[in-house]
Amino acid sequence: MKTAICPGSFDPVTIGHIDIIHRAAKLFDKVIVCVMINRNKSNGYFTVEERVELLKRSLTDVENVEIEMHCGLLAEYAKEKGACAVVKGLRAVSDFEYEFQQALTNKKLNPELETVFLTANAENMYLSSSVVKQVCEFGGDISEFVPAEICEDIIRRIKERNRFSK
Ligand code: ADP
Repeated sequence: MKTAICPGSFDPVTIGHIDIIHRAAKLFDKVIVCVMINRNKSNGYFTVEERVELLKRSLTDVENVEIEMHCGLLAEYAKEKGACAVVKGLRAVSDFEYEFQQALTNKKLNPELETVFLTANAENMYLSSSVVKQVCEFGGDISEFVPAEICEDIIRRIKERNRFSK
């Protein structure tokens, strides 16, 4: 059985992430979507548990996908899970340098682990979790950026945050 991991911060998940996860699920027997906990990054808009919950609600239609969270090295986590690949989405040249560095580091730490890059869908090239947050903070429509099942929850959270940070 071939298992792949789709790691990320997913703060929050967007339709760009969902597209990559769906495509990975067609290529591998099992896909573990893993919310990576990064202590160096400032606090996100959503807690790690909330991100997992949002991912679960957005992916009820895919049978071979599991959602988890992890704090630590991806290369070690992949060994623990028996995963042979990490699947990442590539949007533009700007993603490439960082992703290439990550892929080479993971290969060094776990030579059995391959990194597979899927090109972003042309319509999602511009999309990131940060874009979703920025647009929503200024009252813009994010319904085409995030899964319909979780859109209202994302809007509510971002509005709450705006209220308390004023
Ligand atoms: P973000 O850059 O949105 O904060 P994450 O760290 O959560 O992203 O990203 C996890 C993975 O999803 C990365 O491989 C990233 O390149 C990919 N990804 C993010 N947004 C998109 C998108 N719009 N289309 C394709 N892949 C994406």
